[in-house]
Amino acid sequence: AKTAGKNRYCRFHPDMMTELVQRTDMEAGLQLAIPLGEISVDYQPLVSPRMGQVVQFEALARWDRDGERIQPSVFIPIAERSGLISEIGAAVMTLGLAQLAPWLNEDPSRSLAVNVSGVQLQEPDFAGNVLRFAEASGVGAYQLVLEVTESVFFDADHSLIKQLASLREAGVRVALDDFGTGYSSLGRLQELPVDTVKIDKTFVSMVRTGTERLPILSSMINMAHSLGLTVTAEGIETAVQADFLTARDCDFLQGYFFSHPEPGARLKRALKRADSA
Ligand code: C2E
Ligand code: CA
Ligand code: CA
Ligand code: CA
Repeated sequence: AKTAGKNRYCRFHPDMMTELVQRTDMEAGLQLAIPLGEISVDYQPLVSPRMGQVVQFEALARWDRDGERIQPSVFIPIAERSGLISEIGAAVMTLGLAQLAPWLNEDPSRSLAVNVSGVQLQEPDFAGNVLRFAEASGVGAYQLVLEVTESVFFDADHSLIKQLASLREAGVRVALDDFGTGYSSLGRLQELPVDTVKIDKTFVSMVRTGTERLPILSSMINMAHSLGLTVTAEGIETAVQADFLTARDCDFLQGYFFSHPEPGARLKRALKRADSA
């Protein structure tokens, strides 16, 4: 009987079993994360070099499971596979709108960016929910930016395109995240329903001395600008990179050089200090 049992299960490699157990455990924990209040949001500023000001914050989901921080690169894919991303995405958006409403309401040119997964865009009433969240918090729809990756557009159906279009009609902006890392050509940018591109940090990290030519990076910026899009460079870690991308006319800069993502409470204090400075 023992050998028969062994044979029956021999297609399972022990590693697969461990991974399955881990994922199931992670999923079970994630299900409880919202009711337990374990999901929070950190905010990272986008700086306008022209205005010398913070003009936007990006909301980034955080999960502290029994006091242990689980990285988004670990829990977001699990949330996407299990469908929990819809709930988490809604929580991030409502938390973000609530925490930043005072800052946003002080100046209509300020905005909040949230990351949106393709799974969320498949929900039939995604657009309606986003607009209701904004209205309930008293923040203008034009102060919201949805960050999506290129893959969202790969097999975009009619409903997804319609929802994005209705959001953009209401003033919500769409940013193409991780620009340059996808598979499509620069030329395809013209067809995508986006208002802004975020140049991926792998390109920014190529700037070391500031004297490089980096024709691809320059082409990305110029192409986006010629299409009327705004350009953010993300992952700026050094003054050399900030200067380089400012000189190449990037509209917004983001990265550890300016600030790490910070909890909402820390942010309020930082903004107060900036105000009184
Ligand atoms: P992302 O949207 O591309 O966010 C940028 C990531 O780079 C963040 O990692 C941020 O903390 C990190 N970062 C910022 N500045 C620098 C820098 O100067 N250098 C380096 N090396 N890294 C920098 P994080 O917070 O771990 O998030 C990872 C990814 O998880 C995000 O990548 C996004 O794809 C996803 N994610 C996070 N929150 C959410 C969410 O609420 N919803 C969805 N759907 N995805 C999320
Ligand atoms: Ca992002
Ligand atoms: Ca990114
Ligand atoms: Ca990313």
